[in-house]
Amino acid sequence: MPISPSEAAGVLRKISKTPISVMEVCGTHTVSVFRSGIRSVLPPTIRLVSGPGCPVCVTGQGEIEAALSLMDRGAVVTAYGDMFRVPCEGGSLSSKRSRGFDARVVTGAMEVLSLAESLPEREIVFLAAGFETTAPATAALVLEAAGRGVKNLSVLSFHKRTPPAVELLASDPGLGLSGFLLPGHVSVILGHGPFRFLPEKYRLPGVIAGFEADQILLGLAEIVRQHESGAPALASVYGRAVKKEGNLKALGLMEKVFETRDTAWRGIGVIPASGLALRREYGAFDAEKKFGLTLRPGTPPPLCRCGEVLMGRITPPECPLFRTACTPGDPVGPCMVSSEGTCGAYFRFHREEGK
Ligand code: SF4
Repeated sequence: MPISPSEAAGVLRKISKTPISVMEVCGTHTVSVFRSGIRSVLPPTIRLVSGPGCPVCVTGQGEIEAALSLMDRGAVVTAYGDMFRVPCEGGSLSSKRSRGFDARVVTGAMEVLSLAESLPEREIVFLAAGFETTAPATAALVLEAAGRGVKNLSVLSFHKRTPPAVELLASDPGLGLSGFLLPGHVSVILGHGPFRFLPEKYRLPGVIAGFEADQILLGLAEIVRQHESGAPALASVYGRAVKKEGNLKALGLMEKVFETRDTAWRGIGVIPASGLALRREYGAFDAEKKFGLTLRPGTPPPLCRCGEVLMGRITPPECPLFRTACTPGDPVGPCMVSSEGTCGAYFRFHREEGK
């Protein structure tokens, strides 16, 4: 019988003596924290900081603009739904589609293969974004397309790796972070190893947790316990789903198809070895190579402070556009577009300070 949220909150109140700032890295955690009302039961010593774990939010402006440019060239661009509303120079996938260009929402990578086989006369491009949770499906798509000899399918691989971003945040003393609540679904794939640098190099607790309220509270309690005992470790309260070695099949797929590359995270900048590019042997499926694309950094919307939100430097209400010029119905930046974006979560759930 798992500990109840109120029991875990009681434990936290008892053990939390010193102020502590914990980053919940993942957007799913951010939304779950708000939805379950966890902030309201935490002792005042615990500050939760939202991090960069929203795939839509960290996909670079230039990356989406590259996809828009392929629509100009007659390609059918496919992507997961949230990506369609991210505004860029030249519009969004959605607005461009409404002007007669071809873009389609997919809910799984293999739908792209079906589309390519049903439209052999068209070039089908998959805008593949997201972290280690979605990258194995993209790898499987490439392998299956190669196996079937499909020639009209290619991938814009904008997948990002979570550990390098977490390390960037852990290494920044200006953020004042005392520990990390690590994403359960990413850790199901990666296992424990890739996050061990947190205690070993930075003396910071890192605790893997699932997304229900009891999991989050247990994870926070473990971080506080480690912090107060001065014995940071990499731990998991999500043992039923996360194996220490991760998902070896998914890791094998990723290893076969991808290699790491430096890549830009929106508002954060280039993080070394944080991207996944297709290996040379799958170059025929690499849309950047196939169409001779050069990715540009892209210009973020004026006054949008998504980058600072993603780094945990400010909260969304500190952005001058929050709830005024920027709303979920008319978003200025990606942090307001995505269902997992911090600005969107604050808009829907945060009601302090009369905002
Ligand atoms: Fe950007 Fe809107 Fe968030 Fe401000 S509220 S940081 S404009 S997404």
